[in-house]
Amino acid sequence: RAHLDAVEQLNPRLNAYITVTPELALAQAEAADAAIARGEAGPLAGIPLAIKDLFCTAGTRTTAGSKILGNFVPPYESTVTAQLLRDGAVFLGKANLDEFAMGSSNLSSAYGAAENPWKRAGEPDTVLVPGGSSGGSAAAVAARLALGATATDTGGSIRQPAAFCGVTGIKPTYGRCSRYGIIAYASSLDQAGPVARTVEDCAILLRSMAGFDPKDSTSADRAVPDFAAAVARGVKGLRIGIPREYRLEGLSPEIDALWQQGMEWLRAEGAELVEISLPHAGHALPTYYIVAPAEASSNLARYDGVRFGLREDGRDLKELYERSRAAGFGAEVKRRILIGTYVLSAGYYDAYYVKAQQVRALIKRDFDEAWGKVDAILTPATPTAAFGRDETQDDPVAMYLNDVFTITANLAGIPGMALPAGLDAKGLPLGLQILGRPFDEETLFAIGG
Ligand code: GLN
Repeated sequence: RAHLDAVEQLNPRLNAYITVTPELALAQAEAADAAIARGEAGPLAGIPLAIKDLFCTAGTRTTAGSKILGNFVPPYESTVTAQLLRDGAVFLGKANLDEFAMGSSNLSSAYGAAENPWKRAGEPDTVLVPGGSSGGSAAAVAARLALGATATDTGGSIRQPAAFCGVTGIKPTYGRCSRYGIIAYASSLDQAGPVARTVEDCAILLRSMAGFDPKDSTSADRAVPDFAAAVARGVKGLRIGIPREYRLEGLSPEIDALWQQGMEWLRAEGAELVEISLPHAGHALPTYYIVAPAEASSNLARYDGVRFGLREDGRDLKELYERSRAAGFGAEVKRRILIGTYVLSAGYYDAYYVKAQQVRALIKRDFDEAWGKVDAILTPATPTAAFGRDETQDDPVAMYLNDVFTITANLAGIPGMALPAGLDAKGLPLGLQILGRPFDEETLFAIGG
């Protein structure tokens, strides 16, 4: 009830939730109470969560932040949310996001952008973006409108909003969480994970979210460790890599100082810092912005106005498709569909898509080689603190630069955690990122803890 009251009070301004489900939440809370009374409480009994509106929730509208799914009520539950419910969690509602998870600011949500609860010192009227695409999830956790949240990360969408809102988020290894029932953006990159206030909370949530699922052919058949047990392990003896290529030209002194501070903390706790090289990191951004739109253009072909979602009338089937898609999709989604169909088209497939896949393999190989020398890698999470809603240029490429530190993890399939590590001169949170070996989230929890 305390969380629902807070949502009622603050959500009209923050817009962190697209849909709030108070009756459902109270019913789930009562069921959790009863389970506790019977001595059968699950590990998340009564814990109130925000669910990114990309996870299908049976009987609760799921929009993906898009007009085209404005009337979509899924008949089934995603595996991740089903596992959270199994463990006793309470769902407060569906969190705001960039349309189809495409974006870094929440500005592309068809339901209005979520707002970052943080303010720059001395600028109470400047509205800051919460990051994206999981901006609603991060804003809800930061503003105490949920104890934790689910999110997804295709190129940074868990880690960048976590960093912008001063909370913790982890993108696990590709295949760790089932993608069944999560509305697809780029299937070879999409991965679910938690956002929460602490590293330990993320560990507890991830344990419930993860696990093999025969309904997702890319789900990994690996045992799920007790991630929370790793949090207190410490970093003594760990070798932590500092990638030379991430020291970008023009990196702000503030972000550089944060990174140095992170290195100092780890050294003081007994870790060894090792300079490493990821020679193809500089190609990650263009590679991602070919692979992700290519997969998106294919995944989004299903929104044709016929099977489900928004339908506009047309004289014939083709016109019905065209009008439904023209009215249902926003500008950024249309841009990605155009890029994606272009790079997949017969004349350009080899030059763009195949080339990008080859570079992707090189980016992954860089990491494989690094794991021979180090146990984890430390980098900044984002190149800047949260920016103002009105400070975003209309230049899409400037927006894509937000992902420069985070997208390599998706291209390589490795886990990455973002956690709050300091404040900038204006008092805004800044985040560090820890990358790790495939299926070694425990080391990330140990370092983060
Ligand atoms: N900002 C990136 C994009 O727009 C990443 C989004 C995501 O991880 N879902 O594609």
